[in-house]
Amino acid sequence: MDPRYNIKEVEARIYEAWEKSGLFNPDVCVEKGFTRKDAEPFSVVLPPPNVTGTLHLGHAYEDTFQDIIVRFERMRGKRTLWVPGTDHAAIATQAKVEKELLKTEKKNRHDLGREEFLRRVNAFAKESRDTIVRQIRRMGASLDWSREAYTLDDERNLAVRTAFKEMYDLGLIYRGSRVVNWDPKGQTVISDDEVTHEERTAKMYTFRYEKDFPIAISTTRPETKVGDTAVAVHPSDERYKKFVGREFDVTFVGVPLHIKIIADESVEKDFGTGALGVTPAHSMADWEMAQKHKLPLVQVIDEYARMTIEGTLNGKKTLEARELIVAQLKEQGLIEKEEEATQNVSVSERTGGVIEPLPKLQWFVAVDKIFKSQFSIFNGIKKGQAVTLKELMKKAVTSGSVKILPERFEKSYLRWIENLRDWCISRQIWFGHRIPVWYCMSCGEPHVDMNIKSKWFLVRHGETDWNKEGRAQGSRSDTPLNDTGRTQAKEAGKALKNEKIDLVISSPQLRAKETAEIIARETGAEIMFDETLREMDYGDIEGKSIEEITKEHGTFLIRPYKKLGGESFEEVEKRVKTALHAHRKAYEGKNVVITGHGVALALFLNHVNGKPFDGSPLPRIDNAKVVTLEIGNPCAKCGADMYEEDPDTFDTWFSSAMWTFSTLGWPSFAKASEGKPSHTPKKGELGPENDMANYHPTSFMGPGYEILYLWVARMILMSGCLLGETPFHTVALHGIVRDAKGQKFSKSLGNGVDPLVLAEQYGADAIRMALIVGTALGNDVKFDEQKVKGYRNFSTKIWNVARFVEMNKPAGDRRPPKTDRNHHHITKLETLKHEVTTYIEHIEFHLAAEKLYHYVWHTFADKIIEAEKERLKNGTDDEKAESYALLEHLLLESLKMLHPFMPFVTEEIYQIFKPGVMLMVEKW
Ligand SMILES: [Zn+2]
Repeated sequence: MDPRYNIKEVEARIYEAWEKSGLFNPDVCVEKGFTRKDAEPFSVVLPPPNVTGTLHLGHAYEDTFQDIIVRFERMRGKRTLWVPGTDHAAIATQAKVEKELLKTEKKNRHDLGREEFLRRVNAFAKESRDTIVRQIRRMGASLDWSREAYTLDDERNLAVRTAFKEMYDLGLIYRGSRVVNWDPKGQTVISDDEVTHEERTAKMYTFRYEKDFPIAISTTRPETKVGDTAVAVHPSDERYKKFVGREFDVTFVGVPLHIKIIADESVEKDFGTGALGVTPAHSMADWEMAQKHKLPLVQVIDEYARMTIEGTLNGKKTLEARELIVAQLKEQGLIEKEEEATQNVSVSERTGGVIEPLPKLQWFVAVDKIFKSQFSIFNGIKKGQAVTLKELMKKAVTSGSVKILPERFEKSYLRWIENLRDWCISRQIWFGHRIPVWYCMSCGEPHVDMNIKSKWFLVRHGETDWNKEGRAQGSRSDTPLNDTGRTQAKEAGKALKNEKIDLVISSPQLRAKETAEIIARETGAEIMFDETLREMDYGDIEGKSIEEITKEHGTFLIRPYKKLGGESFEEVEKRVKTALHAHRKAYEGKNVVITGHGVALALFLNHVNGKPFDGSPLPRIDNAKVVTLEIGNPCAKCGADMYEEDPDTFDTWFSSAMWTFSTLGWPSFAKASEGKPSHTPKKGELGPENDMANYHPTSFMGPGYEILYLWVARMILMSGCLLGETPFHTVALHGIVRDAKGQKFSKSLGNGVDPLVLAEQYGADAIRMALIVGTALGNDVKFDEQKVKGYRNFSTKIWNVARFVEMNKPAGDRRPPKTDRNHHHITKLETLKHEVTTYIEHIEFHLAAEKLYHYVWHTFADKIIEAEKERLKNGTDDEKAESYALLEHLLLESLKMLHPFMPFVTEEIYQIFKPGVMLMVEKW
């Protein structure tokens, strides 16, 4: 053996050897005879790190934590599978790309368009993925890379769509208007768990809506009070009893309000005046109260946190409105008290935007809705029994089907479920799984998972100089595209590139023709021309500017154009409609681009939307903008067949919530009759197509306690509802890694540590030990580089011990280690092994690691080796052989036990002693 342990070289070589052996894959372990086919399975799914992330100490800890039990169970002979994967982390990834885009190109996502923006996000995610998976390998994680998954790949997309459909059919997913957390900065809904709360000091105002109103109320947000529809008091509050049930018309800062006095148990009598102004549209609690008391909802703030109330406040930012309102109240002498108060401000964790609760039409998972369980589950819920998702989530834990460790988290889990509201699963961002809903363009009816047969894309021509100059441009002129117009057409073509366009049908007018030609070139489609797609005939005003038309006719809005020798809207509508219906029939099932003109295409769009021309303004279609129409089965409600896909995407936790089973082949290889499985997985059989039968529910899950609600709870919800199973038997929640002083690692503190740099210096083994030893499950880790150094020394110690043993290898006969003289040490070691095994089984990894450390250093090296030295030097050959046999046995057994904790150095030494044998699959 080398006198020096070359960490860097060894760790790289060993991981490669493990991967090459294929033994991370349990199927290979069975094929090669290391694991029995009928062995008990042990499965873990890696909590997927964000695809764009880089490995930090938190990951390093989490990976080590899981790798310990995975390696342990694999050595114990179980069919052990650990599935890797990455998370697309929708909002986080999109925000990263948007930030970069703004910085380097001064553009936002809308400037790029959905297609192009997504192309860039996907490219960025793909590139980043390589980094994080390489880094996970560096820590020694024994993951089966042949089963690697991604939360946004095709298989996971099928899982998401299938789940949505099943839950929709069960009545557990609905579209509704509820008050949600709206992030005005990110322009999207976010979940309760993505909101952080900051305490800020604010002014609390106590006031009356108007002088004669009998009750004063208090608030820190006077601007929302223009949306009040009730005042709530406690039912037993003697002061207000006589008003309950009465209704008042008041004028508050110039805004007329209709206020009903209601009694509600939730009002705190002793807080403020004991009366509460109820704002159903801008507070979740108030919204819930409004539902109970059937109060109307008045929205007064929009998505940009601006006031939408008629009058002087209209369009004002909320903070500005607050000041104006307070000033008015003061002027009118309506303020009774003004005091400093702490206000709990909700902030988006991701963007830092202040959350504005708003009523929005969104998709929700109903957690309190009663449905019939499809399965008999959790020792108590029978098939067909009426349950709610909340009950299901509770029962999974109270029945003991899922064990949450440390046990103290069980209580917080159950408490959280009590307070759980319906889960809003739609997001207004582009990167993510699209909500699989298509709305009938004619009647608006939603259809889930519509079978789209083909698509039509309406594209108005690119810009011409006449567009720019604002000249009437109808059927009589042949203006060409200008430079901008050509660029626009090219971008439209690029966006359509992946749509498998069969045909471009164009108006023969030059500007449409040029646009069609550019799109055809980009997409490789053929072009045909149709005379009936030409623009409306404007008669005499063709080519004239707005000023010229106004001068001549007194207005530029002269309709009908028929008077000027042109066409009527009805005439254009008729020809366009007829032409398009004919093409629909002729090119059934084909993807078609129609290039044409603003008015003619708008009339067609109106027709698809079920709105014949009635004189009202037409939808505006911008130059070279693509309008997508999807053609599917006839609408169940009205028979039309053109649809618009829901533009929203899923909350990223919807796909992560299915992670334990979407990675194991659901629904493609689902059990028995869920959906239409192409294969029924068989327990005991090899291959990923049988994973659902072999490995679900998984055995163990090791996430951080901070995602107990965000993720763990939702996994229990989804697999309970869809599979009638728990996602895992045991979930062991680990703590956060902090610095030596107990502070969180953060950029602003400058206390960041890169585990990869440390790995190069001290070895992954040393980092693993430093993270594990000293911290009980569920507690936060205090990380200290000194500790890593210490365990690097331990690696060196093990190396030196092994080297000493190796140098004393006798030339001749080997002896069995178990002689009477050796008996004592071997029994001691067996006791130690028993203890270590028990610790690991109880997820007390820190105790197991400490025990081993002390044994190897202070018993084996310091005492036993020291005691044998004399004999090894001066003993008889027999004595030497006996001593050596003891030391070799103790060494190899110690290496085995240390392997889950320090896989690299142990594997390297073991193979020196037993060439051709791999420690990772040796019997424990
Ligand atoms: Zn319809």
